[in-house]
Amino acid sequence: MIIQLKQDIDNSSLQKIEGKLKESGLKSNFINTQRAKYIVAIGKNYPDMRIFKNLKGISDLHKVSDDYKLVSHKWKLNHSTIDLGDNVKIGNGNFAIMAGPCSIESEENIEQTVQHLLDNNIKIMRGGVFKPRSSPYSFRGLGIEGLKMFYKICHKNGIKIITEVMQVSQIEEMEDYVDVFQVGARNSQNFNLLDELGKSKKAVLLKRGVSGSIDELLQGAEYIFSNGNENIMLCERGIRSFESAYRNTFDINAISILKEKTHLPVIADPSHGIGIRKHVDKIAMAATVAGADGLIIEVHPQPEIAFSDGFQNLNFEEAQKLYRKIHAIKELDL
Ligand code: PEP
Ligand code: MN
Repeated sequence: MIIQLKQDIDNSSLQKIEGKLKESGLKSNFINTQRAKYIVAIGKNYPDMRIFKNLKGISDLHKVSDDYKLVSHKWKLNHSTIDLGDNVKIGNGNFAIMAGPCSIESEENIEQTVQHLLDNNIKIMRGGVFKPRSSPYSFRGLGIEGLKMFYKICHKNGIKIITEVMQVSQIEEMEDYVDVFQVGARNSQNFNLLDELGKSKKAVLLKRGVSGSIDELLQGAEYIFSNGNENIMLCERGIRSFESAYRNTFDINAISILKEKTHLPVIADPSHGIGIRKHVDKIAMAATVAGADGLIIEVHPQPEIAFSDGFQNLNFEEAQKLYRKIHAIKELDL
C-alpha cells in the first residue's frame, strides 16, 4: 500500500499513521523524494482503508500489490515528466531524442557531434566515458577527465548529457558533470548502484538487463525511486535470445507493456536493440509507433573509425534522415 503524505505533515500525524499501520501488521517504509513524501506499507493483509479516513496528513492512498509500487501506473495515473531544466523535458507528451557516439573519443569528436545536434534541434547528447566492454582489451572510455571535457563543451552549447555510471564510487565524481546517469544493461540489477543513484539529484536512465524481464526492470526502478529519486526513465535495448542474426532481440512488446505498467517515461535504444546500422532506423520508427517517449541513438561523425560499436552507429546524414522520419511519425499523432 502507498500513502502519499501532505508536504507539511507534522510529526504527531505521522506517528498516528505509522501506529495504525503497525496495528494492522504493516511495516512502514518512509520515502522522501524531490517531489513528495510517501509511506510504502508492506505486509501480508491490507487493512480496511476506512481506518485512515479521519487521519490528518494524508493526501492520497492506494493499494498496490505488485512487487513494484511507486513506479506503477496503478498508483500514479498521470505519466511522469523528467525536467532537465532549460525546457528540456522527457515524457508525458515530451518526445526526446538523445544522440551521440557510443564512447566519447576526443574534443573534436564531441564538437562535431554537438554541431550535428544543434543543426537538428536535439537537446541531449549521449556518450560513454566509462565503458562496459565484453573484452578487457577493448577501448574502455576516456574516464572522468573525458567527462569534464564532454560536459563543458555540451553545456557551453546548451546541450544536456547522458553518460553511463558503472559503479557506486563513480557517482560522486560524476554528479556535477552529468544531466542523466545511464545504468547499462549489465548493471541493471546492481542493487547497490541503484540504491545510491536513488540518493542522487540527477535523473537516471535504467536499461533493461541483457536477459532481464520487464518485471525485473520495474523492480530495479523501484530501488531508485524508493531511495528518493523520482526522475527515472526506463530503456528497452533488446534482450538476449536464441537468435544470432543480429546483436540483440529488440522487444517492441516491452515498449507497449511498460507504458501500461508504469508512469515513468520509456525510451527505446534501437542501436543496441538490433546492432546493425542499416536497420536502426526501422526499429527506431517501430518503437516510436509503439509509444516510446524518446530514443537514444548512436551517431558518430565517422562510424567506420569509431572506437566502439561503429557497426551500429549512424553517420550524420543517416541520422538526419531518421530524425525527419521520426518527426513525420510524431506529426501523425498516433
Ligand atoms: C551503451 O549505451 O553504450 C551501452 C553500453 O549500452 P547497453 O548497456 O545497453 O549495452
Ligand atoms: Mn554502444
